[in-house]
Amino acid sequence: MIELVLFRTGAVDIARSAFQPWLEGAAREERVVAPVWSGLLRTNEGNVVFDTGLHPVHVERPDATFGPQSGLKVMMEKEDAIVSRLAALGVKPDDVAIVVNSHLHFDHAGNNGAFPRATFVVQAEHLAFAKGKPNFPGVYWDIAELRYLPVTGRTRVATGVEVIPTPGHAPGHQSLVVELAESGRVVLTGDAAFTRENIERGEIPAMDQVAAKESLALLGSLAEGDLKRIFTSHDADNWATWRHAPAAYR
Ligand SMILES: [Zn+2]
Repeated sequence: MIELVLFRTGAVDIARSAFQPWLEGAAREERVVAPVWSGLLRTNEGNVVFDTGLHPVHVERPDATFGPQSGLKVMMEKEDAIVSRLAALGVKPDDVAIVVNSHLHFDHAGNNGAFPRATFVVQAEHLAFAKGKPNFPGVYWDIAELRYLPVTGRTRVATGVEVIPTPGHAPGHQSLVVELAESGRVVLTGDAAFTRENIERGEIPAMDQVAAKESLALLGSLAEGDLKRIFTSHDADNWATWRHAPAAYR
């Protein structure tokens, strides 16, 4: 029996065109406040966390990571820190056996340092790519005491829980596929899809357009056409329709 709980770890205020490349004219520059979120999976084999969210340094200093000139504005409150969100669910950091990072950008791996007892599942190709790159700030994840398990390709994390490569946003980006008893298969996409519309249209801004489009098609096929079972990474409109902590998907 697996339970999936989704909770907010902050938000980013960003131009809509960052997620919706099809927009034209003034609509491109219109701002959107997009959620940043993480997932907790309670499984018979232990607790699994998907992405660790924004570091709480951003509560006091929203521009702590990329400075004031960057195109995105971090919005974070104290209770958004993943350790606080997990505490509200009765889970301590040391109760987390496995962390899956979709990738190592600061809004997905910001609190890796909070889980020194966990095993971190990341695609080997992504780890190699992110290492030393300023847009994957190592201060949040490249920490000597953390145990990374580099994996290659589709990999089982626990019964009914599997990572699946969805490159394009970055090399070795991965999504998480979870088989739930009541809800059926759900997919936590990470930045392979920012919004459900990316999958519907087959379009997304990405480093590698060819790979990104293939990943969007794969996500659509994993959901067997039912996009309500896909949880995309920064989807202001659809986030509001999902169950949030403490409510769970089963
Ligand atoms: Zn992101």
